[in-house]
Amino acid sequence: MVFAIGFRRFSWEFGKRANFSTRYLVCQMMDMTKTEFPKRVIQSIEKSKNDKREYRGLILQNHMKVMLISDPDTDKAAASLDVNVGFESDPHDLPGLAHFCEHMLFLGTEKYPKEDEYSKFISQHAGSSNAYTDCDHTNYHFDVGHEHLEGALDRFSQFFTCPLFDASCVDREVKAVNSEHEKNVMSDAWRLQMLDRATSDPDHVYAKFGTGNIETLDSCPKGKGQNVRDELLKFHSRYYSANIMGLSVIGRESLDELEKMVTGMFSEAVNKEVQVPSYDASPYRKEDMAKRCISVPVKDIRLLVLSFPIPDLFNYYDSKPEHYISHLIGHEGCGSLLSELKNKGWVNWLVAGPSGGSRGFDFMSIQVDLTATGIDHVDDIIMIMLQYIKLLREEGPKEWIFNELRDVAALSFDFKDKEKPITYVTKLSSNINWYPMEKVLTGSVLMKENNPEMIKTVLDKLTPDNMKIAVLSQAYKGKTDKTEKWYGTEYSLMPIENSLLERWRNAPLNQNLRLPDINEFIPTKLDVKELSENNPDRPRLVKNDGYSMVWFRQDDTFKLPKACVFMDFYSPFAYVDPHHCNMLHMFVDLFEDALNEYSYNATIAGLAYELENTRNGMMLYISGYEDRQAVMLDKILAKITDFKIDPQRFTVLKELYQRSLQNFAVEQPYHHSMYYSTVLRSEVAWTKREKYDALPKLTVDNLNKFIPMLLSQLHVEMLCFGNLTKDDALKVENAVMGTLRKKSSTRFLLPSQIVHPRNVELPHGSAYVYKQKHEFREISAVHVFFQIGMQNLRENVLLDVMAQIISEPFFNVLRTKEQLGYIVHSGVKCSNDTQGLRFLVQSDKSPEYLEARVEAYVDHISETLADMDITEFDKHKNALKTKKLEKPKKLKSQAVRYWGEILSKQYMFGREEIEAEEISAITKDDVIKFYNDYLNRKGAKRAKLTTYIIGKHIDDCPSEIDTAKHNSLLQEGLLQCPELQPSVLIEDISKFKCDLPLFPRLEPYIDLSQATIAD
Ligand SMILES: [Zn+2]
Repeated sequence: MVFAIGFRRFSWEFGKRANFSTRYLVCQMMDMTKTEFPKRVIQSIEKSKNDKREYRGLILQNHMKVMLISDPDTDKAAASLDVNVGFESDPHDLPGLAHFCEHMLFLGTEKYPKEDEYSKFISQHAGSSNAYTDCDHTNYHFDVGHEHLEGALDRFSQFFTCPLFDASCVDREVKAVNSEHEKNVMSDAWRLQMLDRATSDPDHVYAKFGTGNIETLDSCPKGKGQNVRDELLKFHSRYYSANIMGLSVIGRESLDELEKMVTGMFSEAVNKEVQVPSYDASPYRKEDMAKRCISVPVKDIRLLVLSFPIPDLFNYYDSKPEHYISHLIGHEGCGSLLSELKNKGWVNWLVAGPSGGSRGFDFMSIQVDLTATGIDHVDDIIMIMLQYIKLLREEGPKEWIFNELRDVAALSFDFKDKEKPITYVTKLSSNINWYPMEKVLTGSVLMKENNPEMIKTVLDKLTPDNMKIAVLSQAYKGKTDKTEKWYGTEYSLMPIENSLLERWRNAPLNQNLRLPDINEFIPTKLDVKELSENNPDRPRLVKNDGYSMVWFRQDDTFKLPKACVFMDFYSPFAYVDPHHCNMLHMFVDLFEDALNEYSYNATIAGLAYELENTRNGMMLYISGYEDRQAVMLDKILAKITDFKIDPQRFTVLKELYQRSLQNFAVEQPYHHSMYYSTVLRSEVAWTKREKYDALPKLTVDNLNKFIPMLLSQLHVEMLCFGNLTKDDALKVENAVMGTLRKKSSTRFLLPSQIVHPRNVELPHGSAYVYKQKHEFREISAVHVFFQIGMQNLRENVLLDVMAQIISEPFFNVLRTKEQLGYIVHSGVKCSNDTQGLRFLVQSDKSPEYLEARVEAYVDHISETLADMDITEFDKHKNALKTKKLEKPKKLKSQAVRYWGEILSKQYMFGREEIEAEEISAITKDDVIKFYNDYLNRKGAKRAKLTTYIIGKHIDDCPSEIDTAKHNSLLQEGLLQCPELQPSVLIEDISKFKCDLPLFPRLEPYIDLSQATIAD
């Protein structure tokens, strides 16, 4: 696999950057004196031939670079501003300052001093906002209903012209940064990244700790008599300069209107003529290399990472030599490096590509997981990696491989699905700071000219003397002698013996390794089929016999040569007990593993498949270019119905599965709280523990018996959507059912054999609490679920309106004001035809305290509703409608919506329009009644299920809230918790479920007997 998204940094296609020299800009700028006019307008933006949107580049008087996009069809408007400075520019003694600045910037401006003005405006107009700090840039972005671009952009622009950095928010935001860091402390990905920084040149910017915490931003500066806000102001006034800002805006407005809006709002940002810093030396010194860094991960994972320092290749973006090399090293076809390592039984996956670099330096990294035997063969694995690199050197750069990559990139650009507006502008604004304006869309994607010399230059850097080796395994526990400062990772650095280095230097060629075959999957038929006359506007059945149901619709919106074919194979044997669950899981893993060498080229060429084990059986997804889908499907069916288990791969994948079950215990507490809440509410749900205990029965023999049984009785339901005709859909059905009948003698199921899972019904007036201790994490979590009951149109939208009204203030009160922790969430939760409202908090406070805070907020909602005027209420309704009516941007997203209706058996295709219309009829009184029935502590229909995940350091916590005590200890100004009825503690999950009735299943929304398409 080639790095898709680099760690904390975007991959090659997303945007490396580099010093897009200001000189280049200055010399082309026209001399204009009036500040409201841009200095330069760039009309000739390279774009895809199928892209109907209009683009215009601007360089403002203050040298800010802007990309405008006018799209009359967009339902959301969006904007993103990228400042070309990140945590690598933090002062040495103040780690985390750039990140802290990102947090503080959003809280109030001279024009809009109220700190929640921006987030409230965005939330009330169907939008969302976020920001992130990377090593060399910081990005701010939002989206909003298209009519409200001007209002949102005006609020947003103030952050870059007159931020307040309100002193009263400092302590609180330091805490926010600290809880963000605490969330990451136990993440192996974050630890690994920091460990690499910590074992490099300590004087290099690469060695910095970017997130910051309470120590770096509070106690340390205070100890030195530093005021962190003063330092923040200095940092901001030094770096936040218009000449290193890139802005991208998309809206329905014309380019002229957008230009007027942007020049008016952003011309005030000051140009301080900041020179973007660049670092020419590599962070790896000679003494850092030819060493082995062993470390102990949190989870039971085993990894080997090689990283080679390479030059910054940004200036070669037209040829992308690093992509050529990562394509080959990361290839998974026959004769590939991965193929050889898997045949040896040493690894399961491999990722290669540039990662972790910044302006002036970069790294090429190869990452593999290690199997139980692989960990004993680290040196041999490195030898094979070096043998493959030697092969690449000996073979020399091949023009046909470059041409293949160039063609695939061009195709994917020309037939690209639209991204969400917010994703699109975020990507473009960061590209603006690196590519010439004309190439902001294409520079990171297209490969134009082959550069064999640069490929050779980079390959020459991939040598044993120029690499760092990191190995992670819990086997190193107690065998290390160092601790990394910020994350506490235990590690040791060991020199590599000269004799081993010498052997690696002289790596011989390996006969099993070779270059990949020509990719047969690159599509050639790219025409869009003519629309058939009676194409339905919603999916309709083209077949419905005892064996299968086939839903079909030809796409008439996206008009791309792509299609989605989704299938659900229902089997009564899938979920019989934890053992059957395990067998199905193993079958799917082994299948994907066995087909990988074949399917990898298809994935590269833009045709993907996925087989997934589900509660009901299996799901098969095929998506991408339609051209070769039939070939792919035939291969999959042939392999499923004639599957041979490879015992060696079975052993390796079983061990991997076993660790994944065990590793669940280490996941974040809020994951656990959601998980247990789902288990408690489902009629039958096998837990990770139960599956783990059933593992001894998982053998090759048992699996060999299971697979034919699984396929012997099935019901298949499928969706064919995209560049397909009705005949194509019937052909798919024919291929599937024909193969199953012929090769697996599949029989159909009686309707009564198709049983769908149901949820338990909590009695009205009940309150339950379930407690579970977390064995690994100090932090706790609470999940409070209010059951609303069966889904129906009116209550669906009432619940949606309720959730819309409280989501922003809940976050604002519990996270921003009370600083309970980084994870604070409220929202609708639907499952198995039922629905409810959930509140989720993860914090270092104890669960019963957190539940009291949630209840205090829930109590406060009645006031919020009473105080709300009709204008504000309507704003919420409109925001919700806008969100519902937001059109899917991709063919696959539309397919996924249809598929959701098929899987739930509700078949309410076009649900969004139906519900949006229902919203109009909702009054404020309806919502107040809904609140009084379901949420109010005295509500007649209130039914609550709370899940406590108790942090490791807390022995136990009460399952009751002592309201009087809680309120007496509260800080002034916080909401009081009301008197609550006592909760029932759930001691035994199965007993709890046995005692409760089940909700019935919903009737389908449409009449299935009338849903067959007319001929
Ligand atoms: Zn943050």
